Amino acid sequence: MVTFYRRLPRFEYVQPKSLDEALSLLAEHKGKAKLIAGGTDLLPKMKGREIKAPTHVIDLKGLPDLDYIKYDEEDGLAIGALATIHAVETSPIIQQKFSVLAQAASSMASTQVRNRGTVAGNICNAVPSADSAPALLTLEARVTLISKEGERIVSLENFFTGPNETVLTDTELLAEIQIPNLPPNSRGVYVKLTPRRSMDLAVVGVAAVVIAEDGVCEDIRIGLGAVAPTPIRAKRAEDTVRGQQFTEERIERSAKTAAEESRPIDDHRASAEYRRWMVQALVRRAINQAIS
Ligand SMILES: Cc1cc2nc3c(=O)[nH]c(=O)nc-3n(C[C@H](O)[C@H](O)[C@H](O)COP(=O)(O)OP(=O)(O)OC[C@H]3O[C@@H](n4cnc5c(N)ncnc54)[C@H](O)[C@@H]3O)c2cc1C
Repeated sequence: MVTFYRRLPRFEYVQPKSLDEALSLLAEHKGKAKLIAGGTDLLPKMKGREIKAPTHVIDLKGLPDLDYIKYDEEDGLAIGALATIHAVETSPIIQQKFSVLAQAASSMASTQVRNRGTVAGNICNAVPSADSAPALLTLEARVTLISKEGERIVSLENFFTGPNETVLTDTELLAEIQIPNLPPNSRGVYVKLTPRRSMDLAVVGVAAVVIAEDGVCEDIRIGLGAVAPTPIRAKRAEDTVRGQQFTEERIERSAKTAAEESRPIDDHRASAEYRRWMVQALVRRAINQAIS
């Protein structure tokens, strides 16, 4: 596929000094403005004329209050809208306690893109292959959405509504991603299938978080990317092993069920059939790595 990059369409660039100003600008230019964080998705889309040209681009990067990663024993992890992929990938607390997310972040793009792009931008862009999404789904993340009217908290499972679509309204901004604490006996793994070793989008992405004691599965969460209109949890696959001893046969049944739950499409990157086989292989691998 050949991509022709053209010049950016004309737009007004605005850099609010406060969150309140950003929300006022969103309300004032309702439906015609676009927020920009790292710009690593937005600008290529604008150049490629993949989206309707916004009249205003509202730059969030001038709002340092949104750039944080906080951890609390009670409340868990909070990732601000401007925390970069690099900050998440290299955060000691995320590497230690929420490693599935650190692994997903480190699998993304290049150093330059990871230094600029944000995890919030990755999920707001809402492509089915977004690498952070399966990891965040297995961590049962919630997002805080704010507008001039107030704020609401939405579970990530209910956030995605279709390819490139979310529940965000024209006047809302994603302010924070929250992740509840995990027990110490949990382990997470993210595996990503790409034709190239780096700088490639997932053909299939699988995240697994396993909470196990003496080989018994206390809980398991499986997240799938690039194999359905949105990133999804494979809940039936989880049910096949939850509460039971991990055996080769049960892991295989779980992997096969995840493949059945996936709804991939044929496209220029892979056939649906190949993707389904790869879901089975990668779920098997992710569970085995998580319990090894
Ligand atoms: C070369 C290259 C390689 C890439 N490789 C990968 C990869 O391997 N895996 C992968 O998943 N992605 C990849 N990407 C895509 C991109 O880098 C990520 O999705 C990144 O996380 C986007 O973050 P951003 O801050 O740049 O978002 P932006 O481009 O600034 O924004 C993306 C979208 O989200 C909206 N938005 C941003 N922040 C908010 C907010 N706080 N509230 C509401 N809406 C918001 C914007 O309006 C826009 O619609 C790649 C991109 C490039 C250019």
